[in-house]
Amino acid sequence: MAKQISYGKFLLIECTAGELMNAVGSDICICDWCGKPFLPSDKGVYIAFLNHWYCWNCFLDWYARAKWYPEDEDYERSNFEFYAPRFGIKCQ
Ligand SMILES: [Zn+2]
Repeated sequence: MAKQISYGKFLLIECTAGELMNAVGSDICICDWCGKPFLPSDKGVYIAFLNHWYCWNCFLDWYARAKWYPEDEDYERSNFEFYAPRFGIKCQ
């Protein structure tokens, strides 16, 4: 089940590759950082701030360096509000 997760200020959705494929209507799921394909049952993180899906390894690497910028908040929020219902998540 996709769920919202909290790391700092970022709006994030933990979901499987399969859930992402359903949400975006794609047949394959590739991590937007390492470029590896994942199985529908593999978990990763949708990062609204980047509008990317990363596998957990890449997400943790990215998060260690990531900075949240208030000027990007509108972009992040609109991505999140677009995708969250597609993952069956209620926006707060
Ligand atoms: Zn990756």
